[in-house]
Amino acid sequence: MGGKITCEICNRTFKDKDGYEQHKTAKHSERLENINSSAPKLDFNFKKLRNLLIIILVVGAIIWLFSITLKGSNACKTDSVTEINIGSHQNLALHTHADLEIIINGVSKEIPTNIGIGPGFMRPIHTHDNSGEIHMEGPCIRDFKLGEFFLVWGKRFDSSCILDSCIQNGAIEMMVNGKENKEFDNYIMKYQDEISIKFTSDKT
Ligand SMILES: [Zn+2]
Ligand SMILES: [Zn+2]
Repeated sequence: MGGKITCEICNRTFKDKDGYEQHKTAKHSERLENINSSAPKLDFNFKKLRNLLIIILVVGAIIWLFSITLKGSNACKTDSVTEINIGSHQNLALHTHADLEIIINGVSKEIPTNIGIGPGFMRPIHTHDNSGEIHMEGPCIRDFKLGEFFLVWGKRFDSSCILDSCIQNGAIEMMVNGKENKEFDNYIMKYQDEISIKFTSDKT
């Protein structure tokens, strides 16, 4: 019987095409709807995946930016004072001062104006005049050691030497706010400190 048609879904046989079409509409239309409705379902899953990817990208970008900012502020806290350029007096998180005097054999040494300031740069430790006032300024809060001021200045100061005067030829005495201090270059300068470094030669 060459005219017979078999339903490919339920294997029922039909004597002609019309009968098969009727059967298909009556019994399997729901299934066809399901097949059709699976298209928007796929689309929904794609959207979910796309949204997930967008969220991952955004979160990744935020973490990346945060790490860069963190690195930037860490650089301000850890970089050498001779490498940091604060640029200007704007947006300073830190602005504090200490006073320094250097006396060699009873004679006061001039601490020049514009130490740490030059064409296109301003170090976080600098002077604006020759009064001995040390300015500590920067975009982040950090401690500065007295030795770092001398590093910016390009002069020597430690427990052995002050400028060109060394303990082979005399004695160094350091006073902070009227009290003797043995920390020398490692001393962390504090707000409104009065620091005095004296060298007294053995031979007078
Ligand atoms: Zn200042
Ligand atoms: Zn300044």
